[in-house]
Amino acid sequence: MARVLSLDPFLKRDALPLFWCGGCGNGITLGAIIRSMKVLGWTQQNTVVVTGIGCWGKADDYITTNALHGTHGRALAFATGIKAANSDLNVIVLMGDGDAATIGGNHLIHAARRNINVTAIISNNYNYGMTGGQYSGTTPVGLVTTTSPYGHAEEGFDLCDLAIGAGAPFVARGTVYHVVQLEQIIERAMVKEGFSVVDVASPCPTYFGRYNRLGSAPAMLTWLKETAVGLHRWEQLGPEDRAGRFPIGILKDEDRPDFCRRYEEVRTRAQAPKGVTQ
Ligand code: SF4
Repeated sequence: MARVLSLDPFLKRDALPLFWCGGCGNGITLGAIIRSMKVLGWTQQNTVVVTGIGCWGKADDYITTNALHGTHGRALAFATGIKAANSDLNVIVLMGDGDAATIGGNHLIHAARRNINVTAIISNNYNYGMTGGQYSGTTPVGLVTTTSPYGHAEEGFDLCDLAIGAGAPFVARGTVYHVVQLEQIIERAMVKEGFSVVDVASPCPTYFGRYNRLGSAPAMLTWLKETAVGLHRWEQLGPEDRAGRFPIGILKDEDRPDFCRRYEEVRTRAQAPKGVTQ
């Protein structure tokens, strides 16, 4: 199918220019989301974008759909309420690694366990960009941030492993370098029934890149290109070749009834006349 390249009508042009630093990966992910919404025929009326706090949390400023800009780490809680109240809506949740894996980590695992039918798109730049480059729950061990200037002493979460372990039926990882694949993954995640998680490796040249001497914004894209490995190739690599790298693609895709469907069944049973089993 030919790709639809225009960002109309979902891009809020009067809000431009984008708030993000030059070379930030967030604009690429935003474009992939908007194009996916167009390809899927979503509308401003039937779509809700829920965001948290941080650089990526500003994304709803540029999208013309319904939106809710929540508090830090609580975007998934708001999204759960929206979807439970009106399951016909398309609900996507945009979180950074601070929102999704650090202050909001508990919401992530429970959304996965509950299997609420929303799409979580996590812009993962391995640090808190907006507040000055502090380490987050995904900062890899040994790397440098403003709050780990001699190297981070903790292991970072692998967000995909975390989501799979918590029970999410659809889990995938992409990067802003591999943008065509990223868009395909986002489309698949958006149509999936149940909780879908897309972990997007994204450069923050202003803090993470600078503190770790990863070079300019283009050099960070090259870093992503060389660090990310397609699933087929990943399977063929031994532990030594995997070190410091990560697989991209759809890591899990299975079918199970989502929360709203199951809750409706419970409600039907509860409302049945006494003595009648549904
Ligand atoms: Fe992007 Fe980092 Fe700048 Fe935030 S601080 S806008 S994450 S480059």
